[in-house]
Amino acid sequence: MLSRHTRFGIGGPADVLLEIGDETSFIQAIGISKNSGAEYTVIGGGTNLIVSAAGFPGIVLRFTGAAIERQGVAIRAQAGAELQALVDCSIAEGLRGIETMTGIPGSVGAAVYGNAGAYGHSMHERVRTVRFFDGTVTRTIGNAECEFRYRESVFKQRKDWFIFSTELAMEPGEAAELRKTADEIFQIRLTKYPADMKCAGSIFKNLLLAELPEDVQRQVPPQVIREGKVPSAYFLEQVGAKGIRNGGICVADYHANLIYNQGAGTAVELREVIDDLKARVRARFGLELEEEVQYVGFSNGAA
Ligand SMILES: Cc1cc2nc3c(=O)[nH]c(=O)nc-3n(C[C@H](O)[C@H](O)[C@H](O)COP(=O)(O)OP(=O)(O)OC[C@H]3O[C@@H](n4cnc5c(N)ncnc54)[C@H](O)[C@@H]3O)c2cc1C
Repeated sequence: MLSRHTRFGIGGPADVLLEIGDETSFIQAIGISKNSGAEYTVIGGGTNLIVSAAGFPGIVLRFTGAAIERQGVAIRAQAGAELQALVDCSIAEGLRGIETMTGIPGSVGAAVYGNAGAYGHSMHERVRTVRFFDGTVTRTIGNAECEFRYRESVFKQRKDWFIFSTELAMEPGEAAELRKTADEIFQIRLTKYPADMKCAGSIFKNLLLAELPEDVQRQVPPQVIREGKVPSAYFLEQVGAKGIRNGGICVADYHANLIYNQGAGTAVELREVIDDLKARVRARFGLELEEEVQYVGFSNGAA
């Protein structure tokens, strides 16, 4: 059951789950999947996924290569490494640049894919190169070609591309100072996201102020704007999202953009809450919230 591989604890079965640690075997597995006509998809740590009750009718692939290696003031990591392991390694090595990303769960590969970030910094600031399989060959591209934007990259547009590793350009730093910054952030994050909370972090992306209709911009109090973005939580709060409950699925009463599974929640209930919240914001503000979470095994919106 894929519910065992998602932090939400939700999701039906896959026909096959393959965990592979080397590039050659991974490419062979993709080839076999394609030649057999089977559907395939790739997951990392499952911390940003909503998997349908029906699960995934095909092959689910996970790359487990997790080497992390310092190269001067750069650091190279394989996609299957935990992002936290990369953060901890860079801190221990006295390399500055990703310490604010402490506590973001999941893998390095998915962090590049979704340009993960927190506390004012995201992966795109540090990625120098990405090595990936494009469905035919393995190649390496530089930062500009990754087309990073807020929680976006070229890899999100090209579902047939698979990230194997990345090289990050870092700066020299002082390990104790970096550790202190990371530990402070980690403690704050724990109060928002308890370690056993079945969730995916923020469900919806924040919105760029400049891209909002003028009448909506005028309604946003200046104090909620952060780095040119309006938290989607602001709009969700205005439509009464906090504390909503649908079966085993709840919206946190302290954070309108945080949906969690109380234990026995289902994919159907989760989709209903997401659709309800989107409809409320659409009706009140004329805005379309966009999910940050990624869906697996849904067709025609059915759960
Ligand atoms: C409590 C909590 C807090 C969070 N806080 C933050 C936060 O502060 N900032 C933030 O940005 N995110 C946050 N997230 C979201 C999540 O941690 C990130 O999206 C993370 O990068 C997902 O990693 P994963 O390995 O679990 O990916 P998955 O959830 O398994 O997959 C996510 C997507 O990545 C794709 N993918 C995975 N690996 C690869 C690869 N090697 N190549 C190509 N595509 C790949 C998958 O196909 C899928 O579409 C939070 C999540 C939780 C549960």
